[in-house]
Amino acid sequence: MGFNAFLERLIAGRWIAGADESDAITAALRFKRANINSIINYLGEEFTQMEEINSTVKKYIDLEAEIGKRRLGSDLSVKLTQLGMLVSRKACHRNLDLIVKRAKTAGIFVWIDMEEENIVDRTIEEYLTEASHGNVGICIQAYTLNSGEKLRRVVRAGGIVRLVKGAYPLSEDTFRTRREITRNYGRLMLYLFRNSKRFTIATHDIALVEKAIRYNIKYKKDVTYAMLNGVRNRYLKALAEKGYKTAVYLPFGEKWIDYSYRRLKEAGHATIILKSLFERQGV
Ligand SMILES: Cc1cc2nc3c(=O)[nH]c(=O)nc-3n(C[C@H](O)[C@H](O)[C@H](O)COP(=O)(O)OP(=O)(O)OC[C@H]3O[C@@H](n4cnc5c(N)ncnc54)[C@H](O)[C@@H]3O)c2cc1C
Repeated sequence: MGFNAFLERLIAGRWIAGADESDAITAALRFKRANINSIINYLGEEFTQMEEINSTVKKYIDLEAEIGKRRLGSDLSVKLTQLGMLVSRKACHRNLDLIVKRAKTAGIFVWIDMEEENIVDRTIEEYLTEASHGNVGICIQAYTLNSGEKLRRVVRAGGIVRLVKGAYPLSEDTFRTRREITRNYGRLMLYLFRNSKRFTIATHDIALVEKAIRYNIKYKKDVTYAMLNGVRNRYLKALAEKGYKTAVYLPFGEKWIDYSYRRLKEAGHATIILKSLFERQGV
């Protein structure tokens, strides 16, 4: 094994199911046995070449067929910049529409990932044109200052939300500290409990997960607790064993660098990174 392949396996192998669709399916089966649903994402973003965009769409369509055939029940998660948003909004719409309609036939739910600030509004608009299919949800990032407004817009339109803190660089449009972001996440989460029937709490922040569990004793909503593969798998498994609805975000593909870089930054502390790389994950 060359040094790059070694690094790839060491770093990316922690968070990523593997290079191929078959790796994602194998990992999804393993999680399914632990009663954890998978949200499968094909890695890659900011595509500008039609060839790459078209092959990505095909990848998702093939994946839908495989998930349907095996009755895996997994969700998909797509990024609009891998479906052509940066090249042609029309093409992006056509691609998303195709993926969502095929998914609906196969009984698959499709999430739209949220990316960098400059395409957030376009992403929400695109989502709202597809929401009526009923099998589509969108990610909302609590780190943006006006995330409350965005959340209300989506929820009022009957949308299904996956609430996250946000993974891209902070800017003047975002909160500055983790504390402020966490506080805003708490506010948005409460809004979801009060105003939405079904949503996903996507965080590894255990205090927030525990708060959500307490809220749901009162609100009794259809809540899924979701985490990224390789971060807190054991905790997720424990939640599933207690009977909570859980999901793991499971990326696969060769474009692992951007994704792994974001995860490394989040892990922050060198000792957390090392611990997280070598610790056994339990699922
Ligand atoms: C299911 C799911 C889908 C997501 N989809 C999107 C999306 O579409 N768009 C987007 O911008 N972001 C997305 N994210 C990422 C999200 O925005 C955060 O960047 C990420 O979840 C870290 O924030 P946190 O809520 O876990 O809180 P944090 O405060 O960052 O972390 C909480 C705790 O978890 C630990 N932790 C967090 N990450 C790691 C790690 N990588 N390794 C080791 N420990 C870690 C921290 O040390 C801390 O103790 C998604 C996250 C999840 C779980």
